[in-house]
Amino acid sequence: MSDITTAEKERLVAARPLVRRSDAISHRTGGNRSPLSFWYPPRMLRIVLLVLMGVFAVTAQPAAPRPEANLNATLWVQTSAEFGALATQTYRAAGMALTAALADPHWTAAYEQTNDFRALPPAVILDLDETVLDNSSAQVQVMRTGQGYTEEGWTAWVKEARAGAVPGAVAFLHAALLKGVAPHYITNRVCNPADAADPTVKVLKHLGIPYAPDRLLCKTAGSNKTDRRSAVAGRFRILLLIGDDFNDFTAVPDAVDERTKLRKFYEPMWGTKWFVLPNPMYGSWERSVGFDLAKKWNALRP
Ligand SMILES: [Mg+2]
Repeated sequence: MSDITTAEKERLVAARPLVRRSDAISHRTGGNRSPLSFWYPPRMLRIVLLVLMGVFAVTAQPAAPRPEANLNATLWVQTSAEFGALATQTYRAAGMALTAALADPHWTAAYEQTNDFRALPPAVILDLDETVLDNSSAQVQVMRTGQGYTEEGWTAWVKEARAGAVPGAVAFLHAALLKGVAPHYITNRVCNPADAADPTVKVLKHLGIPYAPDRLLCKTAGSNKTDRRSAVAGRFRILLLIGDDFNDFTAVPDAVDERTKLRKFYEPMWGTKWFVLPNPMYGSWERSVGFDLAKKWNALRP
């Protein structure tokens, strides 16, 4: 015979979860502590600890690299075999063109050469930065400081005189000298060719690049190179032009479409009398699309 009625059984079963839930609630609130409850700090202290742990977790992680528009371009110049191969290929082709140019007294590479140049001594004109000199580590410095390109930063880097040589350049220049061809450098660096302590003069000598003070034409009032090409054309027959920027060959406008038209207009010159080194890091092409990242995005073609 049972002492508990059916109605009482149902009431007891229904009450069990309530008992367990109330036990759990009292544990969380400290009302019914386990033997390990001395590890469990008060609520405010727990919040402070959690915040501190969060701060520590954030500060302990390595700094995330910044998005950097020039990262791939600089890395490609510095580490890819393809860049070195392209530069070598360009200078080798230029060397072969030199032989043909020397044999043809009617050959000139400069539109500024309007005189009777047939009897003039031969010369080649090269740009310096990213044509003969590899300044990619200056780009690394710009990226690391995160302050963008500045004239002051560039001047300070030039003073360190630690540019490298673009692959193929030194061999080409020595081969030209051996053939009696005078290398001339037209650069928009601010430099003093007559000063042996000038950082550009020092770096040229350090890299074994053939150099003479009257053949280094530094930046003038403007960055346009036409006048300086004309000055060389007055005294030499210009066999080849070598550069990394369209303006190393002729004066060009900024507009992308205009530049493309001119590039096509000068089609016969590329790879015959004009030789271009790859420079994905900077150049007048960048000015034509705009330095602002949003403008660069807008300039992309689908
Ligand atoms: Mg250049």
